[in-house]
Amino acid sequence: MKKINRRPGPMTTAIHAGEGPDPATGASAPPLHMSSTFVSSDVAGFSAHDLEDGQDGFIYSRWDNPTVAMLETKIAALQGTESCLCLASGMAAATAIFLTFLSAGDHVVVSDVSYAGVAELARETLPRLGIEVSTVDVSDLSALDAAIKPNTKLIHTETPVNPIGRLTDLSTVSALAHRVGALHSCDATFASPLGMDAVALGVDLIMHSITKYIGGHGDAVGGAVAGRADLIARMRKEAAIHHGGVLSPFNAWLIARGLSTLPLRMKAHQSGALAVASWLETHPRVSRVVYPGLPSHPQAELALRQMTNFSGMIAFQVGDAQEGRTVAQQMIDRLQVIHYAVSLGHHRSLIFWMETEPLMETSFRLKGAQLQSYRDFAGDGIFRLSVGLEDAEDLIADLEEALA
Ligand SMILES: *Cc1c(COP(=O)(O)O)cnc(C)c1O
Repeated sequence: MKKINRRPGPMTTAIHAGEGPDPATGASAPPLHMSSTFVSSDVAGFSAHDLEDGQDGFIYSRWDNPTVAMLETKIAALQGTESCLCLASGMAAATAIFLTFLSAGDHVVVSDVSYAGVAELARETLPRLGIEVSTVDVSDLSALDAAIKPNTKLIHTETPVNPIGRLTDLSTVSALAHRVGALHSCDATFASPLGMDAVALGVDLIMHSITKYIGGHGDAVGGAVAGRADLIARMRKEAAIHHGGVLSPFNAWLIARGLSTLPLRMKAHQSGALAVASWLETHPRVSRVVYPGLPSHPQAELALRQMTNFSGMIAFQVGDAQEGRTVAQQMIDRLQVIHYAVSLGHHRSLIFWMETEPLMETSFRLKGAQLQSYRDFAGDGIFRLSVGLEDAEDLIADLEEALA
């Protein structure tokens, strides 16, 4: 066979990385290894400390499993990192980052707006463990600079941020983190691995809820962290082997099947979202549309510089909280194609209304300039729309009916 001299492109990588024809059967599709344990040919021990980096052979599926390893190889290849660890959910992945790299007395900076579960974990659980937390508007680089302390060990960002679509300048944050020897972790769930080259932007740990775009079909929950081999090996010992929140091989198999078409799907999510966002901007009832692919995005310059795919996530406002609530009810009653439901990144379009006040009480608790920054994006509440893979014309017709 002619030797391929070039590095395979993302479409080829998504399909072929981590898999190959089964040597025993010739099966073209990857196998699903539903085995908790693996027959051993030596008498080695079984503590986490016996796990040698790069060792081959499998011991037990809380350490490693061939189907989960296939998915980890695919995600690492697509994200351009040395290694990847998959866990039972996106939240398990976030927890793994915090609890592997932070100890009592350490300081962490977490984006003041982040996935609600991460926001609550940072505000409630980490301080209880003696970890000092600063929640900072990381889109404001001088505020971030001022928040960094001698004991800062980690800066955790998220871009575009769920739910409001605000962006963070990753290369500058990486430089600020590395200046004090801290790690930079970024939740890139909204962007997907195709949305930005997080490695080139200096991010050490790239986290995804693979429940979302990577799986892409709304049928399995999972999480992943991609990064340098030494960092991921530490996380595997701590979070997988000790904390135990590992991904089921069945979910890994489903998610890997979804991942095979990720580059193709991200192009379609982007073009669908651009059509829907442009239409929303012309609708008289819609007061504000936030989509990184639109020139009207408040950080459009950063979006162009940093993003390689604008993804399918749109945030839009409809009047005040009362009007938002009315329109949300109309959506529940009238939408035929789009599902009124949480989650995102699926082939089915999903929409959900998030009122600002209650979100501040339960998750974000922002005040002053940070609250103002949130309100600039979300007003009294926003609709978070995950544009799926249906025909944009059908989504627009559905929204037109619900917004009437
Ligand atoms: C959904 C989501 C998570 C949490 O992922 P789960 O798989 O639901 O645990 C974390 N971050 C972002 C940005 C998300 O959208």
